[in-house]
Amino acid sequence: MTDREPKADLPAGDYQPVTPLMRLRDGRWPLVASAVLLILAILVYGVPLAVGGAAIAVLTIVTAYMPRQTRLKPVSVRNPRQLRRMWPGTGMKVTVDALASPCFVADGRGITRYVNKAAAKYYGGVRPGDPLSFSLRAPSLLEAFDRVCSTGSAERITWTDKVPTEAWFEAHLAPIYMPGSAGAQDRSGPPDFVLVVVADLTEQRRLERMRTDFVANASHELRTPLASLTGFIETLQGPAKEDPEARDRFLGIMAQQAGRMRRLIDDILSLSRIELKAHVRPEALVDLSEIVRHTNDALAPLARELDVTVETLIPEGPATVRGDRDELIQVAENLIENALKYGVDGEKVAIEVALEFDTGGTQNWVMRVRDYGPGIAPEHVPRLTERFYRADVASSRATKGTGLGLAIVKHILTRHQARLEIDSTEGEGSTFTVKIPAAGE
Ligand code: ADP
Repeated sequence: MTDREPKADLPAGDYQPVTPLMRLRDGRWPLVASAVLLILAILVYGVPLAVGGAAIAVLTIVTAYMPRQTRLKPVSVRNPRQLRRMWPGTGMKVTVDALASPCFVADGRGITRYVNKAAAKYYGGVRPGDPLSFSLRAPSLLEAFDRVCSTGSAERITWTDKVPTEAWFEAHLAPIYMPGSAGAQDRSGPPDFVLVVVADLTEQRRLERMRTDFVANASHELRTPLASLTGFIETLQGPAKEDPEARDRFLGIMAQQAGRMRRLIDDILSLSRIELKAHVRPEALVDLSEIVRHTNDALAPLARELDVTVETLIPEGPATVRGDRDELIQVAENLIENALKYGVDGEKVAIEVALEFDTGGTQNWVMRVRDYGPGIAPEHVPRLTERFYRADVASSRATKGTGLGLAIVKHILTRHQARLEIDSTEGEGSTFTVKIPAAGE
């Protein structure tokens, strides 16, 4: 490669032609040393003056005109185009590494010059020297990057990725001007670097969506009995005013609707109370056998009413777990009540408490509630613990269900570091299994 050819990866505008004078300046010390040696040769060894002079002339011409590797003028900090080819300094790298969000430092041409640890972890395989678009492909981000490069103004953008799963991101693009560069004084014009800080908003958006869906669902659930109450009040004030028989019937229905609203509000409050304590693991030692026995006794009237036989296999000794007694009663109540209500056709419900090891070797106290009802179609099973999700809306409403029972169960068990497993075969029945680590594990 000659000094007339710019390096392939440099933009043409960055190439500086090399003059003979510049080469002479670069080669002045070898030239001076050769001249001194020749003068010594003339003076000491009697080399003819003409020969020595010719040798110095040839050396000077060769130094001035011999082609060499590409030679660029030393980078001047006054030239922003050249600064953009520089690499970020240690100070910048240390600062960027200290940030928890994935960060990229790119130059004005969109080449990644540095990535912090979070970015290297999140976008595995990203390397300095790669175009930024290798890691960040969103067109809106790359367009914003170009705008920041041309205007020198910071930008904040958000975008959504649909593949492989829906994900939301936000990026803050900030121009960086190196001290002494042309744009540094008024912070305008093309920056030397652009810092891209990426934030993954997926979890936050999912929570926001869950909250909005929850409020919408809760309002919808409450609106139905409220509309019914309003309708009956108007009827009692108007057409049925003087009709004692209709009044008694309507008051009965109104009491039912009010009860439905109360159950809903109780469950919503219960859920939000459990959510408040979600990260506090209960410390008290409680006996799961006693809790299941107690709940079973409390639900005996319902079992009698539905004509369902309850078989129990509960150890005599204590089944000690760390937990909140009231919350675990709520878990047992929801599961046994569901088994009685939805498995009523099977005429039998089996409840078992046992000590078992899981595959990881952890010892759990297990509560198993099995019914012999219609079972649950496989497509519903993974969604049963979602708020207001019902496999069969009509039967849930008919049995005074709120659609929140299993959501409450799941939240309570998460707080207890316990698990809920659901096995169901259509036409044969369902088994709900709760696994709580035995105390001491
Ligand atoms: P609900 O108040 O409606 O009972 P849950 O959250 O307790 O709400 O249960 C959610 C849905 O799961 C119920 O509506 C019902 O369709 C289904 N389900 C729960 N337990 C059983 C069961 N043992 N057998 C059949 N379906 C069940």
